[in-house]
Amino acid sequence: MSDLRDLYQEVILDHSKKPRNFRVLDGQKAEGYNALCGDRVTVYVEMDGERIKDIAFQGSGCAISKASASMMTAALKGKTREEARVYLEKFHDMVTGKPDELPAELSKLEVFSGVCEFPARVKCATLAWHTLSAVLDGKDEAISTE
Ligand code: ZN
Repeated sequence: MSDLRDLYQEVILDHSKKPRNFRVLDGQKAEGYNALCGDRVTVYVEMDGERIKDIAFQGSGCAISKASASMMTAALKGKTREEARVYLEKFHDMVTGKPDELPAELSKLEVFSGVCEFPARVKCATLAWHTLSAVLDGKDEAISTE
């Protein structure tokens, strides 16, 4: 098990050091702030009808929050609004320790399953996802995990 854990940490470190889709995008956006840890994220989404044509983020924070945002954008690009909502729920269930089956598209995000043992880090892992939810709801406002 420890080998697997090392690999997982490597994936998280890789994404936090070299975040994917880390840029500003001309589209809808929302800002998220996790006061507990100080993580800040802005999620940008360009929709094509009901489909996420492009998705990107900016921000600063801990490795968990950055890696989660990075992997979220990689997993959700090209998905529909509805799929994104389902994924959000599945991801949230996983990091809060609720047994749920993860769709194949989210299998890489299993690296965050250990987060449920650290309640304070759950907010780090879900910040970008909650922020994305605000974008999908058309709420162009700052959201907080409090
Ligand atoms: Zn954090």
